Amino acid sequence: MTYFPLQTRYDSMSYNRCGRSGIKLPAISLGLWHNFGGVDVLENCRAMLRRAFDLGITHFDLANNYGPPYGSAEETFGQLFHQDFQSYRDELIISSKAGWDMWPGPYGDFGSRKYLVASLDQSLKRMGLEYVDIFYHHRPDPETPLEETMGALDNIVRSGKALYVGISMYPPDLTLQAAKILRQMGTPCLIHQPNYSLFDRWVEGGLLDVLMEEGIGCIVFSPLDQGVLTNRYLKGIPKDSRAGKPDTYLEPEDITKGKLTMVRQLNELAQKRGQSMAQMALAWVLRQPAVTSALIGASRVSQVEDSVATLNRLDFSQAELSSIEKILAG
Ligand code: NDP
Repeated sequence: MTYFPLQTRYDSMSYNRCGRSGIKLPAISLGLWHNFGGVDVLENCRAMLRRAFDLGITHFDLANNYGPPYGSAEETFGQLFHQDFQSYRDELIISSKAGWDMWPGPYGDFGSRKYLVASLDQSLKRMGLEYVDIFYHHRPDPETPLEETMGALDNIVRSGKALYVGISMYPPDLTLQAAKILRQMGTPCLIHQPNYSLFDRWVEGGLLDVLMEEGIGCIVFSPLDQGVLTNRYLKGIPKDSRAGKPDTYLEPEDITKGKLTMVRQLNELAQKRGQSMAQMALAWVLRQPAVTSALIGASRVSQVEDSVATLNRLDFSQAELSSIEKILAG
């Protein structure tokens, strides 16, 4: 059936400025790391993308190796984009990345110009796009000179294959260096993509300050700790959950008793706030002024809906924040 997006799609989403740039991103963005691969049901992928766009999610995040198999999430996205979203290309921010292992041999991993340029060409082909809005270096490369990696990003923008560039998982000092090199080349670093959640707060140790000072946006991935910071695992490990499925990066052992105890306590607090556990976890990352967008994953439409409804209650009282700190301290 032909897709006609809701006329109301821009009515309730908030859009936050991405650092000191011209771009605004939705407070909630959708990533296609899991549940959009060749092994997943296409109609479910279609339903999630349509619902997301109907709710004002204008940003979809991909990478060369999302699947499984690698590359297949970009293929799924490309197919659905051409069927449903082609007329709305200018309403979308589509990102991809390279930096993790993608193809065999010495040129399919890390941060050489050879790898980044070739990988983006492959991604564009898989998605059937002329350009991506944001292209990221996916992780720091300890061996390739930073000048080469940043030079490749600059080159990619100048070639018209990406409008903006970003970095992911760079620590504060390397972020500063990368931002400086990019600025000197005339291609500012638009955005940083680190992980951040109630359970993993490394970005509070300097990175968020650097991003604020440098005027770089911040989109935080796995804000729900891959689903652990939701009601998903409170009664065991469902077969259709990320931890219950093969080929994911969340193992049953990762869902420890200690984490579950904290999630139960946090969930009680969320309920008092009139929110789901997932909503409180998302509101909590969005409370940081440096955070532009919370980058969620989803396995079904109802999760997209639940996560977007976070925006109904973003504020925290001092007492709530202290209770959260107490729970996290065990
Ligand atoms: P989340 O922490 O949001 O976890 C998503 C999972 O949480 C879903 O698959 C689902 O689990 C569960 N979930 C989501 N919403 C709800 C809800 N409202 N209620 C209950 N359960 C819910 O993020 P991801 O780990 O998926 O990462 C998000 C995106 O970040 C990725 O798609 C990718 O774009 C990006 N990313 C970037 C990385 C990088 O290195 N730059 C690394 C990892 C991710 P279930 O499937 O069990 O239903």
